[in-house]
Amino acid sequence: MRVRFWGVRGAFASTQADTLRVGGNTPCVEVRDKNDELVILDAGHGLYWLGKQLLTGPLGRGKGRVTLLLSHTHWDHIQGFPFFVPAFLPGNNVVVWGPGGEQLHAVLAGQLDPTYSPLVSMDNFAAKIEVNELAAGQQLTLGKLTVRHAMLENGEHHTVGYRIREGQHSLAYLPEVHHPGGQLSATALELARGCDVLIHETYYSPAQLAAGGVSLGGPSAPPASGHSSFTQAVDLALAAGVKRLLCFYHHPDRPDAEVEALMQAERERIGSKVELEIDTAREGAEFEL
Ligand SMILES: [Zn+2]
Repeated sequence: MRVRFWGVRGAFASTQADTLRVGGNTPCVEVRDKNDELVILDAGHGLYWLGKQLLTGPLGRGKGRVTLLLSHTHWDHIQGFPFFVPAFLPGNNVVVWGPGGEQLHAVLAGQLDPTYSPLVSMDNFAAKIEVNELAAGQQLTLGKLTVRHAMLENGEHHTVGYRIREGQHSLAYLPEVHHPGGQLSATALELARGCDVLIHETYYSPAQLAAGGVSLGGPSAPPASGHSSFTQAVDLALAAGVKRLLCFYHHPDRPDAEVEALMQAERERIGSKVELEIDTAREGAEFEL
């Protein structure tokens, strides 16, 4: 399995110069099996840039197929969808899976409404678009990839976390998750257990979480609903026995240097005897499992 990051930022895209080394686009991750079967995790702003890149392959000739797995439909996870260029080419197939009961199609179509977008309707995509809601316990087989999922607590709502396996290797994707009351989420732990790479959100610094998670712009701003800190992501990775943690869904205010400092603090906290590699997901970075 090959994995490449196209968007790693949380809440909204950041174009500040001091965030660009980690990356400013909202969540989008490209996953391919050994035969090049394409699965995309989330449709944040990074999806536009991935879509452009895909035009060099079958999707640029109207002969491609892509599966898009959504964690949930907050704007930062779907705002790239109307700008996914392969969806405008006849002959392509875009299959979307996500939560939301029977409303998933309506939610995706809703952001094309003329109030928000000149696209007006899903009918204006020339590709075939298929939208499916995930059923509890449903497992997907996409090429050589086996995908399972679970609903994770995320403040007032829920988010889907995914685990993707090819052969002996597994990737867990937990782009937004809350560990209520400081206890690690049992569902998140089960999804991540023993995987090679865990992509886990680190929206908060430990200090921000301790302060109640107050979020954007300063103490007078409204709090963001349940997210995790760097420390919680590391604790989950340790409890799950994963080999490598990639911090993800960074706060839009968080400069690159602060991301590095928060990770370094975690490396020092766990000490050198613990075998866990802690790094950040970075836009443009790729790895193979
Ligand atoms: Zn969200």
